[in-house]
Parts: sequence; C-alpha cells; structure tokens
Amino acid sequence: MQALTASQLLTVWEQGTSQPPVHQALLLLAAALPGISLDNLAELSIGQRDKQLLALREQLFGPQLTSVIACPVCAEKLEFTCHTTDLQAQTNTQPGETLVWRHGAYEVHFRLPNSLDLTAVAPQARPANDDLAVIRNQLLARCLTSATHHNKAVTVDQLPETIVSKMVAHMTEVDPQADVQVALSCAACGHQWSATFDIIVFLWAEINAWALRTLHEVHYLATAYGWSEADILALSAWRRQTYLQLVQP
Ligand SMILES: [Zn+2]
Repeated sequence: MQALTASQLLTVWEQGTSQPPVHQALLLLAAALPGISLDNLAELSIGQRDKQLLALREQLFGPQLTSVIACPVCAEKLEFTCHTTDLQAQTNTQPGETLVWRHGAYEVHFRLPNSLDLTAVAPQARPANDDLAVIRNQLLARCLTSATHHNKAVTVDQLPETIVSKMVAHMTEVDPQADVQVALSCAACGHQWSATFDIIVFLWAEINAWALRTLHEVHYLATAYGWSEADILALSAWRRQTYLQLVQP
C-alpha cells in the first residue's frame, strides 16, 4: 500500500466529497493501491475492500480509533476507543470466487457482493423497510450464479424466504469483515448493545476533518509567508505545525 501525500489525499477528498460512500472507498483505494486497476478494486468483496480500508486508516492516522456514540437508552455520550486489530476479521475468500452453499435439498452457487453490486442496487433515497427486502433480493440475484432444488434449477424469486434469510446470514459469515459489530456498554445506565462499525463512513469523516484543518493551515501559512499551496503541502505535518506556532503565537 502506497503512502499518500497530503496533496494526494486532498485530491481524493475533493473528488469524493459529494460521492456516496461506495465511491469514496474506491477513490481512496485507487490512490493507495495504484498497481490494482479500478475494475479489480470494484470486484473486491465488501469485506476484502474494508480490510484494505482498515490498513489505509492505520497508515494515515495510526491504529488507535476513537469515536463518540450516544447511548440509545439514556442518550449519554460515551467515548469508544479501540485498536484496528480489534476490528479485523478473517478473510479467506478470493475476489470473484464462486462459493457453494447447501441446505437441505437446496444448492446455491454464489459470489460475495462487491462495490459494483452495491452501486447497482443503491436506492436514490433512504429506503423504507419494505424496500430493504427488495434491495436484498436484487443483490442476491446479482450474486447468485445458480441455484437448484432437488437438482432442478430455481431463480432467486422461487427461493423460500427462510432459505433466502439463511443464505444472507451465510454470506455474512463467509465475509465477516463486511459486517463488523462492536460491543458497547453505557457507564451511566448500564445498557449493553452492539453497533455496526462502518470503516468507510468512519474514515471519510476523519479525512474530511483532516482536509478542512489542512486547508486552514495552508491559508495561514500562505498569508503569512506567501508560499504556494503545493509548497506548504510538501512540508511534513511536523514542519507545518512548527511554522503555524510561529505565526499564531
Ligand atoms: Zn445509557
């Protein structure tokens, strides 16, 4: 994984700022993994993609993660801290690999959902609960290579709901990095719950805050010294901070 310069990261931030998370993830990985084509990155399963994003996060901001979460019962704000290794799951699949799942008389050949699938089924607006089932079935239809019942071919629509649910649960088991859950506990009321950790949402929020901070630094240093943006971004973060302390005593 290539270390991104401040200038490269700002360019990615600028390109991705009004994009959906699935595109933001691909922009980041395309910049950090220039040896892999965009098509191949888009074909990584969501778990394989998120594993790379976690590695990128570690490279950009270190292995320690801190987030503030509101308790769903008493609304108390609690600080959640963990290490990137706490969020790593085992990924044993290859991009685009065909997997087989058998349950009773059903046999399903499938691949794991990737960024292209998420883009294809993404709704324009926030989906209602009814739409979520439709989206799930659209996603399955894209990922199922073939399905049989007593050796006779069946379509996704012909699969009973119980089989579809079990199938979806199996896909999550096979690609655990795509659905990372963190255990939380409220110190104020004792409530315990688990929440989904979405690396791209978390990382993009950090990059957004970093970008705004960095542009402010460029503004102050350019005003004070007359240096160009490229010159200021080429300075190490440590040198930028030292000059900032001199002009902002
Ligand atoms: Zn609470």
